[in-house]
Amino acid sequence: MKVGFIGLGVMGAPMALNILKAGHELTVFDRSPEAVARLVKAGAKAAATGKEVGAASEFVVTMLPEPQHVEEVVTGKDGVAEGLQKGGIVIEMSTIDPGTSVKIGDVLRKRGMDLVDSPVGKTSEHAVTGTLTLMVGGNQAAIDRAMPVLKCMGTDTYFCGGPGTGHAMKITNNLLATTIMVANTEALAIGIKAGLTLELMQKVMRTTMAWNQQLAVAMPKKAFLGDYSPGFACRLAGKDVRLACEVAEAQGFEALVGRAAQATLDRAGTMGMGDCDTAVLMKIRENELGIQVRQAAAPTVTTT
Ligand code: NAD
Repeated sequence: MKVGFIGLGVMGAPMALNILKAGHELTVFDRSPEAVARLVKAGAKAAATGKEVGAASEFVVTMLPEPQHVEEVVTGKDGVAEGLQKGGIVIEMSTIDPGTSVKIGDVLRKRGMDLVDSPVGKTSEHAVTGTLTLMVGGNQAAIDRAMPVLKCMGTDTYFCGGPGTGHAMKITNNLLATTIMVANTEALAIGIKAGLTLELMQKVMRTTMAWNQQLAVAMPKKAFLGDYSPGFACRLAGKDVRLACEVAEAQGFEALVGRAAQATLDRAGTMGMGDCDTAVLMKIRENELGIQVRQAAAPTVTTT
């Protein structure tokens, strides 16, 4: 099939590579020429605009940072909608708010195209192995047509409902995952400061309701090793939490825990660490309290 891909970052580049590896014809665009060059080297064709990607494709995947980027690239000037043929499908995989997702989908449907929302769960490692979690929303006929493309990138597929429901699922998920991460850094820092060891806290918490996937899987791989290299950037985690809080507030209730997590992530941004993995939140606590929350070797703790 002829597939287009826009947004070749930490997640998008390996996802696009997996579409190529599955034997599809791939046309790519990113505002970073280096990102495009890497995919061209692997066999993709380069395009200069979203419109050009649309004109060359039956399906166009978008994997961009924020809602405004998706809107600009899909329905803006020289966007995908100007090039895609009737019947073409945009597969929107970024983490954006459901309102923007529905709005863009409505514009496409009026032009005889469609949008399937399929934001992704798990990490950049799963983007490489093609084993992401897919949270799929949209019209059933469009979803059925998009499935062969989606299957190149993910293995756990959850059908969430009509247009925008995949994005609703994703921001709900990330509100929780991120607030848990922030709470972990706070609790562990307090424990170390009070004289406990990381090993002891892990052993005890593993038997109680405090245990969580961030503590079991994510933090031993990065935060506890002092590794803040690109993975899930603080600026993106902060954006996800903000979007979820805005959805809550638009419905008239406060997202107090979410706003506290967002403030923590925004602080990482103002300290110049917005591009670092969220593991850096542990480092910020360490610096504040003059402590270290580290383990010496590779992770020994597994999920129960
Ligand atoms: P990233 O910042 O690494 O990559 C984004 C890419 O989009 C960059 O290459 C950038 O040059 C390009 N881009 C930005 N604006 C553009 C525009 N207007 N036109 C063309 N290209 C443009 O981000 P990422 O980590 O790959 O995340 C992408 C999306 O996936 C985000 O919405 C993020 O929240 C979500 N997500 C990320 C992770 C993760 O672990 N990193 C996991 C799940 C979901």
